[in-house]
Amino acid sequence: MKLNELTITEAAEGIRKKNFTVTELVLDCLRAIKEKNSELHAYLEVFDDALDEAKKADEILGAANHEERIKLPPLFGIPLAIKDNILIEGKRCTAGSKILENYVANYNATVIRKLKKQGAIFLGKANLDEFAMGSSTENSAYVSTKNPNDISRIPGGSSGGSAAAVAANLCVAALGSDTGGSIRQPASFCGIVGLKPTYGAVSRHGLIAMASSLDQIGPLAKSVEDAAILFDAIKGKDDFDSTAVKDNYKLPTINYKLNGVRVGIPKEYFGKGLESEVKRVIENAVGKMEQAGAIIKEISLPHSEYALPTYYIVVPSEVSANLARFDGIRYGVSAVTSHQLSISNLYDVYAKSRAFGFGAEVKRRIMLGTYTLSAGYYDAYYVKAQKVRRLIRQDFEHALDAVDIIAGPTTPTPAFHLGERADDPLQMYLADIYTVAVNLAGVPAISIPAGCVEREGKKLPVGLQFIGKWFEEEKLLGIAKETEKIIKLH
Ligand code: GLN
Repeated sequence: MKLNELTITEAAEGIRKKNFTVTELVLDCLRAIKEKNSELHAYLEVFDDALDEAKKADEILGAANHEERIKLPPLFGIPLAIKDNILIEGKRCTAGSKILENYVANYNATVIRKLKKQGAIFLGKANLDEFAMGSSTENSAYVSTKNPNDISRIPGGSSGGSAAAVAANLCVAALGSDTGGSIRQPASFCGIVGLKPTYGAVSRHGLIAMASSLDQIGPLAKSVEDAAILFDAIKGKDDFDSTAVKDNYKLPTINYKLNGVRVGIPKEYFGKGLESEVKRVIENAVGKMEQAGAIIKEISLPHSEYALPTYYIVVPSEVSANLARFDGIRYGVSAVTSHQLSISNLYDVYAKSRAFGFGAEVKRRIMLGTYTLSAGYYDAYYVKAQKVRRLIRQDFEHALDAVDIIAGPTTPTPAFHLGERADDPLQMYLADIYTVAVNLAGVPAISIPAGCVEREGKKLPVGLQFIGKWFEEEKLLGIAKETEKIIKLH
């Protein structure tokens, strides 16, 4: 086995037992990147200082005795990929946008600071849809990432680069961000684990904002245990983000039994939009949970059909406000310094910098959001959407009073072909039909591999989504871990 194929748990053990060095581990990742990234385009940038960091880690390990090595933090020496909307000091951060092509971060995101403190190693920045808007990574201003399971297909999005990097073993694990499904949906399409934490569990400081009331950073990993380790490392209160409120989580219970666990199956998630083969894979996985003693109950999330329309009012509204800062003066590309753009007044600086720097989907959302927040339409759209959002949240409150966990598909279909939905925003939005409500409600959710469907001779992964109660990641991860075990056994 090549070292880049290891999980965090396996790699951490190997490093501590001196079976291999951090340098060897990082070298195997870099070799895999060299071999495959020109085809997959998972990374936008690979850092040239990753090996230096590995050597430093090896020096620390060399100087430590056995007991000291065992006590090292779990992510010590673990090579990670980071979605390119998360700031790492001194590194370029593009958010997949032309408007930030020359932007270098001058501070570390809180999650990066925490990972650095543990001694994690950053391999590079992973591709994404521009400002995390999209479901296929085709909205990146730079390049489209490909799905490692079938390179004629998209990896999902917007954290498609992170998901492809993990699935193709171009790193040990990765960070992404999830505003409406951008961790879970690519995890599902690529056949890995993706966790969207409770809103407020992880600091957003240093995450380039898309929709601030929904964005969360979370892990993409090869196992539930790895996702738990990464989550444990990045979670917690932060003076720089007043919405990051909760501390003192416990790690998932090692042996969480499925026996007696009440699993709610929302009937709205099994309607006509769901492909029959995907449905079969999910039902099969739920059947295995039942065999292991779980109690399966049909439940209802009655406002599910309003989730997508509500999301596409709330998100553009916040996008139009958050992206106003990219004005050609404060950040990135500017008509003032560009030789291609002529300007004669201040308005030209704003208009031409933004017209040049933003892509079609970003412009679409800025226009929509400006409209929904305008004086004449604010009540009809934005305020109405907030009211419906409350109803969606209440759906989860009621449902999660009666069950321990909600289970269903992460996506209605497996990964689609490159280009298939690129010109049809509505079709693209439908890829997130089962994920967006979770962000509107703020609850945590995870996608784990449930099985595969076959298309054109290729096996395409299908993700099983679990949704839990606010700040009950421990239970969510515990149940997911047990389920992962029984799915693998069969
Ligand atoms: N695909 C959804 C969108 O385009 C979700 C994106 C995300 O979670 N960042 O908004």
